[in-house]
Amino acid sequence: HPVPDYLRGVLESIRHLEHGEVAQYIPELAQADPRPLGAAVATVTGRLHSAGDDRTEFTIQSIAKPFAYAAALADRGVETVDRFVGLNPSGEAFNELSLEAESKRPDNAMINAGALATHQLLVGPYAGRQERIDRVVSLMSTLAGRQLSIDHATFESEMNCADRNLALAHMLRSHGILHDRAEDIVAGYVAQCSVRVTVRDLAVMGACLAAGGVHPLTGERVLGSLVTRQVLSVMSASGMYDAAGEWLTDVGIPAKSGVAGGVMGALPGQVGIGVYSPRLDEHGNSVRGMEFFRRLSEDLNLHLMEAD
Ligand code: GLN
Repeated sequence: HPVPDYLRGVLESIRHLEHGEVAQYIPELAQADPRPLGAAVATVTGRLHSAGDDRTEFTIQSIAKPFAYAAALADRGVETVDRFVGLNPSGEAFNELSLEAESKRPDNAMINAGALATHQLLVGPYAGRQERIDRVVSLMSTLAGRQLSIDHATFESEMNCADRNLALAHMLRSHGILHDRAEDIVAGYVAQCSVRVTVRDLAVMGACLAAGGVHPLTGERVLGSLVTRQVLSVMSASGMYDAAGEWLTDVGIPAKSGVAGGVMGALPGQVGIGVYSPRLDEHGNSVRGMEFFRRLSEDLNLHLMEAD
């Protein structure tokens, strides 16, 4: 079949890229095999193609952020969510201890500060730790089209060295952005990061966003179109962290990366894309993953800003 053959060809052409390192700051991820390489593409009309290590599971990490944000927007409404989380790129690392100068909100939902604030907003003001986790895992499962589960080894491993996220949570609490215990919010956030996915899951989840919130395989409306529009907008501006501007210029596909090595893309009206390769650059983005996207954007004319 031409599509998997094409995907296989792209993967083979980027396999030689061996620079970058697997994430070091989470012990379980530091032990990961750096070699797997897989990719998948799902169209908004429901076709799914994949190649390479397309059934290998890895933890979703920060790629959960757009979905937790979608859930919070659906649960609490845009106005409430916007009061607690901003819409602008931070221009800083994903785990930076910083807030917007005037509002004291986190800059956006794609960085850790914003993701912690977003996690607090899930379900409703009186929700407990487990309810919030269930909400985001269940939304991601619906979008993936199968029941996703948490990798407990990765969860425990990250919880044992969560000082940075705890510091962020305490800072947010001091500004009234979080109201639950810092430990509970961090545990919920780390649980959402520890959900296991494959590149096929990421492609289908991306295709749901690309289709305005309608599931490409079932036709079911999972997210509202305004919620989806807001998620994709924030993802475009901030999904690749401090590399987001270069990414939008070079690749032009809204995308979100995770420190386990996954990258998910969503091109409105067209496709969802998932790729996995664990070695990361200095921003925490998968080196081969980004190259895969560059190739696809170029070969298939996927750049959002290109009119013809
Ligand atoms: N769980 C990771 C963290 O909080 C996710 C970071 C990422 O994927 N960029 O540090």
